[in-house]
Amino acid sequence: MLGPVILAASRSDRMRRLISAAPVTKQVVDRFIPGEDVDDIVPVIRDLSGQGLELTMDVVGEDITSPAQAAAARDAYLELIDRLKPLELGTRAEMSVKLSMFGQALEDGHELALKNVRPVVEAAAEIGTTVTLDAEDHTTLDSMFAIHEELRKDFPQTGCVIQAYLFRTEDDARRLAADGSRVRLVKGAYKEPASVAHQDKHEIDRAYVRILRTLMEGEGYPMIGSHDPRLIAIAQELAHRAGRKPGDYEFQMLYGIRAEEHLRLAAEGHRMRVYTAYGTDWYGYFMRRLAEKPANLRFFARSMLTK
Ligand code: FAD
Repeated sequence: MLGPVILAASRSDRMRRLISAAPVTKQVVDRFIPGEDVDDIVPVIRDLSGQGLELTMDVVGEDITSPAQAAAARDAYLELIDRLKPLELGTRAEMSVKLSMFGQALEDGHELALKNVRPVVEAAAEIGTTVTLDAEDHTTLDSMFAIHEELRKDFPQTGCVIQAYLFRTEDDARRLAADGSRVRLVKGAYKEPASVAHQDKHEIDRAYVRILRTLMEGEGYPMIGSHDPRLIAIAQELAHRAGRKPGDYEFQMLYGIRAEEHLRLAAEGHRMRVYTAYGTDWYGYFMRRLAEKPANLRFFARSMLTK
């Protein structure tokens, strides 16, 4: 029951100010967000890729309020890509972007987000890698899919994310699987109403499996974004039945969550990509991680009390 309350707090400015200013928050945040700037994150990238892991990089931030902030977000990604160039990791380090951070919710936001994300996709292509568009709340998705389609005309490797909890996703998955897209399937991390999304965990898991089957049997490249051991085992079975080998699909998990499993899957020969977030505007990302597992909240509360 705590999850929805935390997710509601993730959109509250008052809670943002309170939690961001708490003296001990940073220690807890570090578990999920291992750096504040590009200088912090380059050694983390080196370390993870040295362990045989692949990465998708997220410069945290969302709910921006001005075109200047959207341009700054674009520039932060361009700086990161510039710093990745000498590492020559190619697709082993790709980018994940939230279009809200590129201005999607501002006036003429669809055009603004497309204008800001395009140079990032171009710069990524120049160093031999690609970009995946994260999925945010359901009101943003028509615009996200339209931008994805537009970018794919020039950069067919551009990926997108679909969320198993949404009723619309089974149709989206059929369309994307036929298109040959790179698609990350996740359960979904936002607070969504019952009119658009499954609320029951088991229903979400069942939908996840149906959608995954569609992706595995389709023409595209499925990316399984989950830490759920049952779904990971089912994914391997569905891949096998669809005649896919490791490398024809990949697993993705978040930095700081089930890290031993990242290494186990990589050691088994799977492509294992770690979603690694960094930056100072970590509040929304951090709160979604708390909401996913109430034990995280207890750990957070305890660290506040024992300070
Ligand atoms: P769960 O059933 O939630 O978790 C399974 C197990 O994993 C738990 O029992 C626990 O052991 C562990 N676990 C899961 N979450 C946590 C946590 N926060 N802290 C500690 N342990 C945990 N959502 C979106 O809406 N849009 C996106 O673009 C998006 N991108 C993502 C990218 C990646 C690579 C991943 C892995 C997730 C992404 N998500 C995104 C989040 C996703 O929607 C889920 O909220 C999140 O992955 C938790 O679901 P789960 O599949 O891991 O299963």
